[in-house]
Amino acid sequence: TMRTLTDPALLKTQSFIDGAFEGDGCVAVTNPATGETLAKVPDMGADEATRAVEAAAAAFHPWAARTAKQRSAILRAWFDLIQANREDLATILTSEQGKPFAEALGEIDYAASYVEFYAEEAKRVMGEILPSHTADARLLVLRQPIGVVAAITPWNFPAAMITRKIAPALAAGCTVVVKPAPETPLTALALAELARRAGFPEGTVNVLTGDAVAIGGVLSSHPKVRLLGFTGSTAVGKMLMAQAATTVKKVALELGGNAPFIVFDDADIDAAVDGAIASKYRNMGQTCVCTNRIYVQDGVHDAFVARLAERVAALKVGDGFEDGVVQGPLINDRAVEKVESHIADALAKGAQLVTGGKRHERGRTFFEPTVLTGVTADMLVASHETFGPLAPVFRFSTEEEAIAAANDTEFGLAGYFYARDAGRIFRVLEALEYGMVGINTGAISTELAPFGGIKESGNSREGSHHGIHEFTELKYGCLGGL
Ligand code: ADP
Repeated sequence: TMRTLTDPALLKTQSFIDGAFEGDGCVAVTNPATGETLAKVPDMGADEATRAVEAAAAAFHPWAARTAKQRSAILRAWFDLIQANREDLATILTSEQGKPFAEALGEIDYAASYVEFYAEEAKRVMGEILPSHTADARLLVLRQPIGVVAAITPWNFPAAMITRKIAPALAAGCTVVVKPAPETPLTALALAELARRAGFPEGTVNVLTGDAVAIGGVLSSHPKVRLLGFTGSTAVGKMLMAQAATTVKKVALELGGNAPFIVFDDADIDAAVDGAIASKYRNMGQTCVCTNRIYVQDGVHDAFVARLAERVAALKVGDGFEDGVVQGPLINDRAVEKVESHIADALAKGAQLVTGGKRHERGRTFFEPTVLTGVTADMLVASHETFGPLAPVFRFSTEEEAIAAANDTEFGLAGYFYARDAGRIFRVLEALEYGMVGINTGAISTELAPFGGIKESGNSREGSHHGIHEFTELKYGCLGGL
């Protein structure tokens, strides 16, 4: 059962296709903190996905033909509705995902910020007139919406991963088909209901629940889908990229990370501990930009570990609706087993347990926030994303050694470091092979900046003025005979 909402009509349990909610609920959505069934949503497949794509394709030209200002006004209305309903949205989010309610409110505000930003940015998609190769011609460059956009999104940010993709797409003049994660469809459907109320025309926004493989198969292969946006695991992203190749779709991927967090001898240690807590334990460690490896220089190692451990041991674990809780349950058993396997592997290879280390006494998927020291490159945590509340601390001596270790991964999403020396700050910033670097901060995400990775962490940017360009095509018009 769902907690009482101020507006119970926001609890939608049907998929949203071509402007209508439809389908019978059969797949249970569960509260990870309690195990309760919250609702049942339809198990849609290839047929419904095809219908949704066709509805989006039919809606595309009229939507693209509206003026940017008209699209902007509807996005702005959607933003206002998300803000006005933030408590209900956060309630739905915490219920199906588990993160503490305060964090869920933060996510709703963050999700809304993309809608607000791209409502504004819709009006600033510019073309160009380039210098010509002949006197009697002009070279025109148009930026046009790419077409139908499909978005496949994960459970760790049930709201923000959707708005971050579809707000810029809609602003640019694209129409969208969203497949949220099966763990967290209710937040997505509530956002769809608010989009409906905001006045998006039928078919402009579609949300499908159900069979990931069948729906994903259509979204990655239907010729009318021109861009596939995906946030999720690297394995699934690579597969979708391969499937999208058959119709030469653009793919915008945000995949896994293996974020290093480096603390140099000249760092402000208290600030570094704050940053480590923020970047490691947000969402119980279940974000793609979460710190995965902490490297601490010899001179400050012991002081840093002592302070970190004290803070981590004090993190309150429990149901996200309880006061003061900052660590909810992990999403499922598989997530817990991965954390356990990383801890067991590290301990077997000589790491030391400083705090935590096991399932929390509350049972279910609650896990004790954990710190390990004496971690080395041969341990699983060095090369694999834990995606849970485990902070492994490596010790290092030189700057070169830290940079080499930090870059020794196929991933390149986010990295962090703490230092005060200006020369070092520039050297390390330039040397880190990551799409995003937090310097003396563990909180980098904002709609104002381009979020995204390099190497096997992805190939696109979401947020900022760059984010809307992903959803446009350049058209060159050569106007001759002047
Ligand atoms: P996680 O392991 O964190 O759940 P996934 O990459 O499996 O990460 O999930 C991210 C999104 O990808 C979810 O919406 C999920 O349903 C979807 N997904 C998983 N497998 C496939 C697939 N074979 N085809 C299309 N989408 C998929």
